[in-house]
Amino acid sequence: MAEVAVIGAGPAGCAAAIALARAGREVVLLERSQAPQESVCGEFLGRDAAAALHCLGLDPAALGGATLRRVRIGHGGREADVTLPFPAWALPRRVLDGALQAAAGPALRRAVTVLGAGPEGEGWRLRTSAGEILARRIVLATGKHALRGHPREGAPPPSLGLKLHLAGVEMADAVALLPFAGGYAGLQPLPGGGANLCAALHGPPGELLARVRAGSALAGRLLRDARPLWDRPLAVAGVPYGFRQAASGPPGLYRVGDQAAVIPSFTGEGVALALHSGLAAAEAILAGQEAAGFHAAWRRRSAGPMRWAALAAWVLRASPTGFAAAGAVGALARLVAARTRVAA
Ligand SMILES: Cc1cc2nc3c(=O)[nH]c(=O)nc-3n(C[C@H](O)[C@H](O)[C@H](O)COP(=O)(O)OP(=O)(O)OC[C@H]3O[C@@H](n4cnc5c(N)ncnc54)[C@H](O)[C@@H]3O)c2cc1C
Repeated sequence: MAEVAVIGAGPAGCAAAIALARAGREVVLLERSQAPQESVCGEFLGRDAAAALHCLGLDPAALGGATLRRVRIGHGGREADVTLPFPAWALPRRVLDGALQAAAGPALRRAVTVLGAGPEGEGWRLRTSAGEILARRIVLATGKHALRGHPREGAPPPSLGLKLHLAGVEMADAVALLPFAGGYAGLQPLPGGGANLCAALHGPPGELLARVRAGSALAGRLLRDARPLWDRPLAVAGVPYGFRQAASGPPGLYRVGDQAAVIPSFTGEGVALALHSGLAAAEAILAGQEAAGFHAAWRRRSAGPMRWAALAAWVLRASPTGFAAAGAVGALARLVAARTRVAA
């Protein structure tokens, strides 16, 4: 019987497991992959993600993150180029998740897929690919993927996420936000050269590079000589942007990360939310707070960031009237940056 079983070693699960292990709790962190992997993500980390990483003894710059100082936005023929209102880094998810998983130490059990979980006595019985595990509490951190029997109730219609690493793209210290018909993309440098193109789509995928290029003159220029480094984009279906876990839930099952709230990509920071929710769940468990109380508190804490990120995503897609004016974009970026903070 483990005291806590954390399911999924992404940012949320790792943060919870590291904090619980450091507090002396007996915790197992179950991860289905054999090794750290690429996942669909823009790989943009801001100051809230950095603050949570510092709590866990990690630093995005020391991990090799490329510093980002500017944000460029293109829509049709219009574009803006403004200074980012906070420090930010571009760090591949394989590197970030690998560092977090290493920091989790002996709690991590790789290549263990959790197939189901049901209440038993005072705790939970987990069915896994490596046999059964009993735990008093579960932290559900499976990210975009629902655990069988535990769907995200009331989740909004899902979007599709795509990611492709590219050569032949020069981004310097800028991240670019590139709306196009049916979605929008983020493009930012990879630390060793080239760029990460990541997109959220609301319709059929089509040919990603061609669709993004067609969305704006800026995208056309940035991606003119782009060469995909992979055969095809990495894809994740079923991203329910806007989902928020209700202030309820069965006793002893704490949802964190994308299982607790799915913030719009590129205007909100999912990794920061994931890390902070994992830390908050660990605090709740250490304080003896029940899962429903934790969910209610996290719902309140993430409400503002979720609302503002949704508004900014809408503005980005709808192309604001004052778009051409860098001053308007800069002011909006500063406002959204201030209102989407999740660090305590
Ligand atoms: C298109 C797109 C772009 C994005 N861009 C950014 C960005 O630039 N910056 C940012 O901050 N956020 C971004 N996000 C959001 C970010 O990727 C997520 O919010 C974040 O990864 C959530 O972390 P998590 O730990 O909850 O889940 P995940 O990172 O998805 O991790 C879940 C883990 O659980 C494991 N797992 C799943 N099921 C099981 C199982 N049954 N048993 C065992 N293990 C299991 C998985 O292998 C994985 O390791 C983006 C998202 C999308 C879709």
